[in-house]
Amino acid sequence: MIAYFERFVHENETEMRAEGNNDPDVVVSSLCDGLELKGSIDFSQTGPATKDFGGLYSAKPLAFIRPAGSDDVAKVVRAALRSSNLTVAAWGNGHSINGQAMAERGLVIDMRALEDGMEVVRLGGSVYVDVAGGALWENVLKRCLSDYGLAPRSWTDYLNLTVGGTLSNAGVSGQTFRYGPQTSNVKELEVVTGKGEICVCSEIRNSELFFAALGGLGQFGIITKARILLEKAPHMVRWIRVVYAEFEEFRRDAEFLVTRPEGELFDYLEGFAFVNSDDPVQGRPSVPLGSTRFNSARIPQRAGPVLYCLEVALHYQNGDDLSSIDAVASQKLGRLRFCEGLKFQVDVSYMEFLLRVKRAEQEARAAGQWDAPHPWLNLFISKRHIADFDRTVFKGMLKDGVGGPMLVYPMLRSRWDDRTSVVLPEGEIFYLVALLRSSPPYPRGPAVEELVAQNHQIIQCCTENGFDFKPYLPHYKTQEDWKLHFGNQWPRFKERKTCFDPMAILAPGQRIFSRNH
Ligand code: FAD
Repeated sequence: MIAYFERFVHENETEMRAEGNNDPDVVVSSLCDGLELKGSIDFSQTGPATKDFGGLYSAKPLAFIRPAGSDDVAKVVRAALRSSNLTVAAWGNGHSINGQAMAERGLVIDMRALEDGMEVVRLGGSVYVDVAGGALWENVLKRCLSDYGLAPRSWTDYLNLTVGGTLSNAGVSGQTFRYGPQTSNVKELEVVTGKGEICVCSEIRNSELFFAALGGLGQFGIITKARILLEKAPHMVRWIRVVYAEFEEFRRDAEFLVTRPEGELFDYLEGFAFVNSDDPVQGRPSVPLGSTRFNSARIPQRAGPVLYCLEVALHYQNGDDLSSIDAVASQKLGRLRFCEGLKFQVDVSYMEFLLRVKRAEQEARAAGQWDAPHPWLNLFISKRHIADFDRTVFKGMLKDGVGGPMLVYPMLRSRWDDRTSVVLPEGEIFYLVALLRSSPPYPRGPAVEELVAQNHQIIQCCTENGFDFKPYLPHYKTQEDWKLHFGNQWPRFKERKTCFDPMAILAPGQRIFSRNH
């Protein structure tokens, strides 16, 4: 059957073209018969897999496949493996920026088709949920919360992302300083390797594959299932923002808060830089929570073009006494040096808190900005160089903002597992910087080429100044650049590729390896 598929793709496709026979129905039905998928394969409706959230790249796959289970995924990989040049890309929810989930003339697997079915399991005193690799985090949250009062403890800011997609990168948010990224909160995976084998793996079983796949940029296998650690979910969240005029004070307080002993930690900590202007999207009005206005008179005279906001959250339960929440919050904030009178807070349900970016999505959709290109840039920058980054990039190149949030907040390396495929800067404390450009489409906003060029300038500035940094959700065009990215981890990454995807079939959109023939 596989031979049939191979022959079909390489002979019939060419023949059909030569004969002017492009009837997709013939192709689809022949391939379905050949592969014997329980799911479906579509040659004509490949549109959803040609454009991602970034809107910068486009690639036309040969087919878009909706698998009915892990077996189907394995069949597709094995078929590609026996062909001379087919590649396979898992398509999560297409929220990549630079075509990472695409496969030009390859087979794209719609992982969302595998979303169904979640099961809570109790093991050795801990509780986990088994979910499909294509499950959306939002659905994991809703199901775990409503059915069990439980929830994962490490999140991304936005939950319309797939479990397999974020685990292939890291999955970071305001809980990362405390619990590590999402890749540190997984007990077990089921992975279809580039050899077409379905393997269950964990820290103690097929551990090399387990750690390779976590943060592995889809290079070693397709994550078809994941067992995620759960905890008792809070009912409510006290969500607080405080403003700083000086980066140094913001930085010291943020680092102070993430290094407190366990009992003194906030449940969430992020931060962002914003423009010291009246701009509603990226200036002072974008900061307040609740009904308190931003009183600009509270900004010290010495403040520069960019201000900083530390954002923290405290979890609590419905029956908790609010005055004791006030006391805990005041005690935790008591030693901080934020601008007096520039503290904002609101109490929201845990669900509302975790779905906060969904509201921003709805607004962006209404304004016609969600489908515009998003040349986002995410970097991990060492604590050693974050002040220099602030001086040169935030206060210099980006003093007028990026038309959207500019996140900057610390994480602790010890919460990450260095056996995964992710590479980080040196040192215990490093910062996530996320430039989430959200300008209206050209000509209402700047041309996308200008924004991409500015991203390059920022990376160049970091390189020329010798900053210790690593792009997050990285994107390069040559293997030489990937080698530099992985540094001394490159031999391990390459070895893992040889072991789990020797023909380099998987995730061609990452442009790390070329398909072997
Ligand atoms: P895709 O973009 O579809 O795929 C990403 C890569 O993973 C591709 O190479 C693909 O082939 C591979 N892949 C997908 N599924 C699988 C699988 N099951 N097994 C193996 N490989 C797979 N990231 C954060 O860490 N924190 C955030 O707060 C955050 N917020 C975001 C907000 C928005 C609005 C957007 C657009 C992105 C955000 N991201 C964030 C980035 C996000 O983690 C990445 O886009 C990630 O790729 C997940 O998106 P996806 O599920 O759509 O995967």
